[in-house]
Amino acid sequence: MNEWIKNIRKVVPYTAGEQPNRPNMIKLNTNECPYSPAPGVEKVIKEMDVEKFRLYPNMEGRPLIDKIARYYGVDTDMVFAGVGSDDVIANAFLTFFNSDKPIFFPDITYSFYPVWADLYGVKYETKKLDKDFRMVKEDYYEPNGGIIFPNPNAPTSVYESLETIRDILEHNKDSIVIVDEAYIDFGGESALPLLAEYENLLIVQTFSKSRSMAGMRIGFAIGNEVLIKAMNDVKYSINSYTLNMTSIAAGCAAVEDKEYFETTCQKIIDTREKSKKIMSDMGFEFPDSKANFIFATHKDYDITKLYQFLRTKDIYVRHWDSPKIKDYLRITIGTDAQMEVLFEAIKEFMKISK
Ligand code: PMP
Repeated sequence: MNEWIKNIRKVVPYTAGEQPNRPNMIKLNTNECPYSPAPGVEKVIKEMDVEKFRLYPNMEGRPLIDKIARYYGVDTDMVFAGVGSDDVIANAFLTFFNSDKPIFFPDITYSFYPVWADLYGVKYETKKLDKDFRMVKEDYYEPNGGIIFPNPNAPTSVYESLETIRDILEHNKDSIVIVDEAYIDFGGESALPLLAEYENLLIVQTFSKSRSMAGMRIGFAIGNEVLIKAMNDVKYSINSYTLNMTSIAAGCAAVEDKEYFETTCQKIIDTREKSKKIMSDMGFEFPDSKANFIFATHKDYDITKLYQFLRTKDIYVRHWDSPKIKDYLRITIGTDAQMEVLFEAIKEFMKISK
């Protein structure tokens, strides 16, 4: 074997949900928002001054980080922006998880966490969720090199209360605790108020879900300025200019339209609540979702077959082959009309599977 082949770093990459793009398909597999970004986003993109593209963008992502800071009532030096929250979390792994002790995260969670841990050589230990997919907070009292979990969790959709998060923080004053709030805008309460008490807390959010901008790739972290400075130092050691000018401008326009944002989130929440009722009438079981997706199983039907049947109808939902969750589907909340098509297809499947 050639020497150079031996030297290639071997990684098992994260597998993202498929991105097919056919005109009439129903895409409920990657938790995107079914509604357009705020109207101001289209306006700034159309009015973009292309001449400015000669120059590099602002390194910190200003003025976007200023707007995010103002929106959430924190100082600008408490905000870090990146190319989607994946970029922000990858940076946080590299910056903060640097101990001989293992980091902790739940056994059923965002499957990118073990990928970053392996890539950066970070030891990790997963902590079992209980039978209702809840975190067992006492498991996180053991010595560790850091903690990360999404709230609400993905793919389970389960939201943990701020009391649970506070309890985990109280028992982990010597570790960085990262709360990945990718889905927080769909009815959960953000851990942001806890920042005043815990300097080791980092909160990560994204524009990909509640702000309808997965394609723009904008994510951010809010935390103590010491943490943010450390993240910037690491970023400037890899790539100083991460967010491009277009994303910065589009992101600013999205943050400026609070009313559109709140209305969009409420529409998703309303459709989710209606969908819960319909799905439970159909005999599905699922944890009570506070996210923009429902994680559902059914005692009487083969979930893998349902998943494949839906694909034949050009309806994409997410299914994992992994043993603990193979009997579940993660269904992103679409528009009311899309959900209706989905439910009709499920009814058809149930009829022919009898
Ligand atoms: N965290 C969680 C829990 C997610 O489900 C996702 C979406 N795949 C992300 C982070 C990353 O999202 P993005 O990079 O689009 O901000």
